[in-house]
Amino acid sequence: MQSFTKESHRRAGEQNYTILCIDDESANLKVLASIFKGHYDVVVAKTAKQGFERALNEKPDIILLDVLMPEESGFELMEKLKQHPTLASIPVIFITGLQDAEDEEKGLMMGACDYIHKPFNYGIVRARVNTHLEIVRQRNLLQKFALFDSLTELPNRRKWQQDSIDYWLSSKNAQSAMVYGIIDVDHFKKYNDHYGHQQGDVVLRQVANTIRRTLFDYGGAIFRCGGEEFYFYFPAQQNNAKQVLTSALNSVEQLAIPHHAISLGSCVSVSIGAIQVIPNEKLSVEQIMQQADERLYLVKNSTRNAVSFLDLNIDDQQISLDIS
Ligand SMILES: [Mg+2]
Repeated sequence: MQSFTKESHRRAGEQNYTILCIDDESANLKVLASIFKGHYDVVVAKTAKQGFERALNEKPDIILLDVLMPEESGFELMEKLKQHPTLASIPVIFITGLQDAEDEEKGLMMGACDYIHKPFNYGIVRARVNTHLEIVRQRNLLQKFALFDSLTELPNRRKWQQDSIDYWLSSKNAQSAMVYGIIDVDHFKKYNDHYGHQQGDVVLRQVANTIRRTLFDYGGAIFRCGGEEFYFYFPAQQNNAKQVLTSALNSVEQLAIPHHAISLGSCVSVSIGAIQVIPNEKLSVEQIMQQADERLYLVKNSTRNAVSFLDLNIDDQQISLDIS
């Protein structure tokens, strides 16, 4: 399922970062927590095992990691973190009593972003952490620019390529039905020609926003994948696909945005092509989207302001439902 990370909600300049401090000595954890208190959220762990669990649950922005700990060392935990698909990118600073240059080299070679010796100077620890969090902030911003559309603030096609496949795989594992589809704004070129591109942008934002809210209510997500074309998915619970798609269609109609380039009294509308499916090995997201595109084409060549919906799961028969 589409999930927004902390980064995607965080705006530049906000400082609600989470620091995970892992050290077997309570006194060290207390000092570290006091250094960052009031500036960042601090989560602590006393063993490598607990630290790994906290990292998974809290998704911290940076980890301060002691090297010498009983049972499992900081180096061992670092190896685990680096092998994990989502934890690998979290910056780690080793804080250690080891004075050996070889240990420092080992830590840095393992991928640590910094190495601080004990006993540490509070100001230096704070300054180094701040520096690395600034890098995190810039990286998150770059990621946001790369994965989100600046006009509508919706995730873009690149994000779709990641999330739609993740969603497909998790639905396949759970054997749960889902709906994939395409939404296209009707007569949008005519709208732009008649009202100008600036006003066209306003409409795209309005339409994107209202459909996003509708799909979000049903646990779905929408992406801007072309000029006036949006891809979406949502979980099909209790055969609610028709209800969700009708709500999306109606939400745009209710905006009642005049579109006099079609005819006097006309309003902006959308057309939707959608496919319900329980994912299996024989199918791919790409094939489903191709079918959704064919459904959309049917609507575009008839009434528009309508949905063409196909359920692939009913006894392998293709049941088509046209809603308008
Ligand atoms: Mg220790």
